[in-house]
Amino acid sequence: MALSLDIKDDNTRAALAFRAAQPAKASLIGLARAELAEALIGAGLVPERQAKMRAQQLWHWLYVRGVSDFSEMFNISKELRAELDRHFTIARPEIVEEQVSNDGTRKWLFRFPPRGAGRPVEIETVYIPEEGRGTLCISSQVGCTLTCSFCHTGTQKLVRNLTAEEILAQLMTARDRLGDFPDRDTPAGAIVPSEGRKVSNIVMMGMGEPLYNFDNVKQALLIASDGDGLSLSKRRITLSTSGVVPEIYRTGDEIGVMLAISLHAVRDDLRDMLVPINKKYPLKELLEACRRYPGLSNARRITFEYVMLKDVNDSLADAKELVTLLKGIPAKINLIPFNPWPGTNYQCSDWETIETFADYINSAGYASPIRTPRGRDILAACGQLKSESERLRKSDRLALEAMMIAGHGEA
Ligand code: SAH
Ligand code: SF4
Repeated sequence: MALSLDIKDDNTRAALAFRAAQPAKASLIGLARAELAEALIGAGLVPERQAKMRAQQLWHWLYVRGVSDFSEMFNISKELRAELDRHFTIARPEIVEEQVSNDGTRKWLFRFPPRGAGRPVEIETVYIPEEGRGTLCISSQVGCTLTCSFCHTGTQKLVRNLTAEEILAQLMTARDRLGDFPDRDTPAGAIVPSEGRKVSNIVMMGMGEPLYNFDNVKQALLIASDGDGLSLSKRRITLSTSGVVPEIYRTGDEIGVMLAISLHAVRDDLRDMLVPINKKYPLKELLEACRRYPGLSNARRITFEYVMLKDVNDSLADAKELVTLLKGIPAKINLIPFNPWPGTNYQCSDWETIETFADYINSAGYASPIRTPRGRDILAACGQLKSESERLRKSDRLALEAMMIAGHGEA
């Protein structure tokens, strides 16, 4: 049974109501160091000669200690803390729902306040514990402008890009809830895994196309990988894209994280249908960008994601073409059993077909793990994340659960 927690105890509810009643203050999360210093000067809180030092002090509190309230910054004077609180916020987003799957996967539904004239938005973030590591799957947009035909997010219009603050907030709030800021007291009600690493890896594989929100994703990932702060190694950060070729080059030059490509088809005619951005950036251009991705080696490979769709892209001939196509690129191939959603016309390939496909790729020398669906009981698998623009109706949810019980794509 999945566990759904009502974390809104009386104190939290009171705090949320209080926050909702306040006029929106600018957040200090998601600013580069120089921007942080400028914000302090701009608000008249510190003289220019002190700004760099203060920015560094705040940076440490925000990203090493993980505090979410100025009052916890005990080496900053009470007066300055009060002034900071009057002008800025470092509060976490509201957690609307937190679910824990029977396999340990967790899913949060976060609500972010409106930006400008918009409405509040809700997005999902998923935590997947595995032997020796824990991976957080982060969203970059609410909805998506692209329309990949097998993806549930692709049926949802783009509501808006997430800001750098909101992208980082997913990581920081997950770390709160996992008790993963070691220098900080674990907040009341957090569910701390019994052992092992907590968030050791992040993947930009939640909702949205990260390379259509390049600047915010870049800013957030540079902060997440800053060695004096959240300190995630760039080798442990993977950005997944459907293939926005110009921004793949920029990702290599300006961000330097690991790359995953949603390939899903080996011929342009089929990929045009499955991943329509292929019409703009066809396979040849996409693979050229991959070949030229900086720093590739056997220890630093590109991951090619390949969703297994019954009778669509899962033949042995497809597997053979795949191997030919990727020749010369240090690559891993990640086979993803299709996760169904209400209204889809696709089915997941049979298990034997997936294994035959995987065996062929393996014998050609590629690691080809089959991605075990995780957190299915809480609808946390790839392509199932929802946004406030399209919540599953109860009847759809029941239909989906029935599809899963019937064993579609069961590993
Ligand atoms: N927009 C980015 C990242 C988000 S999707 C991208 O497309 O790469 C993360 C992965 O899940 C992608 O490879 C995507 O193609 C895959 N995916 C989407 N819907 C799926 C589904 N219903 N079943 C299995 N995988 C799916
Ligand atoms: Fe958008 Fe990625 Fe889904 Fe395609 S697979 S619709 S790019 S989220």
